[in-house]
Amino acid sequence: MEDELVICCMDRRLNVFLENNYKDAIVLRNAGANVAPLMPLIKQIVRENGIRKITLITHDDCGAMAKTFSVLKENGKATEELRLNLIEQFEKVKFTTREELENANTNLQLASLKSIFPELNVEAKPARMKDINAPKDDEHHKLLVVSPGKPSYDRIFKVLEFNPFQCYVIQASIENAMPDIELTANDLHAKEVYFIVGDNDNPRDVKRDADMASLKLSKLDAEVKRQDIRTVRKSYA
Ligand SMILES: [Zn+2]
Repeated sequence: MEDELVICCMDRRLNVFLENNYKDAIVLRNAGANVAPLMPLIKQIVRENGIRKITLITHDDCGAMAKTFSVLKENGKATEELRLNLIEQFEKVKFTTREELENANTNLQLASLKSIFPELNVEAKPARMKDINAPKDDEHHKLLVVSPGKPSYDRIFKVLEFNPFQCYVIQASIENAMPDIELTANDLHAKEVYFIVGDNDNPRDVKRDADMASLKLSKLDAEVKRQDIRTVRKSYA
């Protein structure tokens, strides 16, 4: 459906699932399908595309919720930005297990969407990892930062010769995605970050975003690959 917006977690196991099931929807993705930092972008997309349906896709065994759990229940560390963007909203939520936290996340994000878009058809469809058949994890992860749009990842994976199940995918604007980029590099073993220049992107803007991320990530051991941006763009032309 062209008038559907999907808000989904960036999890690497959801790429093929999204491409198979939501190929015509506009997709936004970040850590945990976390609505608050995306809200300006969501409002803009709803307005400009006549969106009538919003589907929220959270999932079990979520890395963003594992991080939140570790910070709130096990004294884990997080950057100030990640606390503000993701973790803080769960401080008053009652939960004892990861599963309860994941359910709370779905409910929280859904309630927030419903309150802001009462006139739209808003639905949560949590994905179950046991239904997805992801291959065994080898922890050689990468992160792709892609502009919001249809989940046509296949050609990107083909050009770069990446395994879709190794790649986290963020589809948002850099302003609200930076804490999630750091989370993926820090906690989810993504050692390379690729900024993809899509059909409607200005390469100069993407390069600026990659430079900004590079600066932030230089303190970590993640490597921001910029030379590959050109490779991907060629296939788009
Ligand atoms: Zn997740």
